[in-house]
Amino acid sequence: MSSSQPSPKVAALIVAAGRGLRIGGDIPKQYRLLAGVPVLVRTVEAFRAHPRVARVVVAIHPDDRELFNQCFKGKAPETTAGGDTRQDSVRRGLEALAADAPDVVLIHDAARPFVDAGLIDRVVDALAKAGAVIPALPVSDTIKRVESGVVTGTVPREALFGAQTPQGFRFGPLLAAHRAAEGQALTDDAAVAEAAGLAVHVVAGSADNVKITEPQDFVRAEARLAGGALAFEFRVGSGYDVHRFALGDHVMLCGVKVPHTSGLEGHSDADAGLHALTDALLGAIGAGDIGQHFPPSDPKWKGASSDRFLRHAMNLVEAAGGTLINADITIICERPKVGPHRAAMVARLAEILSVAPSRLSVKATTTEELGFTGRREGLAAEAVVSVRLPAS
Ligand code: MG
Repeated sequence: MSSSQPSPKVAALIVAAGRGLRIGGDIPKQYRLLAGVPVLVRTVEAFRAHPRVARVVVAIHPDDRELFNQCFKGKAPETTAGGDTRQDSVRRGLEALAADAPDVVLIHDAARPFVDAGLIDRVVDALAKAGAVIPALPVSDTIKRVESGVVTGTVPREALFGAQTPQGFRFGPLLAAHRAAEGQALTDDAAVAEAAGLAVHVVAGSADNVKITEPQDFVRAEARLAGGALAFEFRVGSGYDVHRFALGDHVMLCGVKVPHTSGLEGHSDADAGLHALTDALLGAIGAGDIGQHFPPSDPKWKGASSDRFLRHAMNLVEAAGGTLINADITIICERPKVGPHRAAMVARLAEILSVAPSRLSVKATTTEELGFTGRREGLAAEAVVSVRLPAS
């Protein structure tokens, strides 16, 4: 804005409460790592780093609280509880800001981490003369109207623009517009402003300010962050573990309690499936083995639930900027039967690892009554994983 006017008090509201649109069914995309840093952290930092933005508030889904805290590690921005729809989340966020209302508010999608300072400046500058401002880019593709797979017309594109965020508004009128539009399902805040009769002005968007929506968007974004080169490499890790049967009435396998005529002997809960998988993850990143991280000699791990070991290994993978592509576990025993528990095991692994069940496989085999597993002296598990890491 021009130097003759006082600087407006600018707040940014980042909308990060979405759940429906997930990349491959994994954790919500705004929490996924992009070249080692969560998308949401990149987005929030862009606003925190901007000298004209005084306050940053993030609307999050209540279920994501733990993910959110993990992402920011003690330097978390303010949050508000999101609603069922994007529009609902924004209205709630505005209500939360109203107690100490800013002059203008910038509403931004969590999934647009490449917003730059110049774009934020253009929107804030334009708000000196307009009540509502959006960044937008002219549509460059020729736009076709299609019905049942057949083109029925070509839409003149001269007047068509693609809307981006941050969308900037004078605070009071936008809050009023959102209150009036409550319960509708408008897809952006400009639409809410339009519905209230506000004139929405356009400034130039940025081609880099993409919304990360599809799996390919992540690949392209990582390549861009690496200067155009492929930003990652693939690793493989394997793990193997054996536990001896002992007195008991159940065994733990892949995090699931399986009733059996024996238990398993071991310092922890003796979950050979989780131990093999933990070793495979550690192996993929060259981080030693489970015994180094959790020495059996340490009384602290006596009877420990092995999901802690697995989560620790996964944390190390994530700290290295890694993503688990898939894991394949084979349980080797005559008994207990694994088949009836397979779905529960995959679900439990997906929960511990925060990845989609489709990336996980649990299989079982016997050794035709040969060897120690054949004699039912114990059971074994092996695991193979593929991990994607930033290229070293
Ligand atoms: Mg073990």
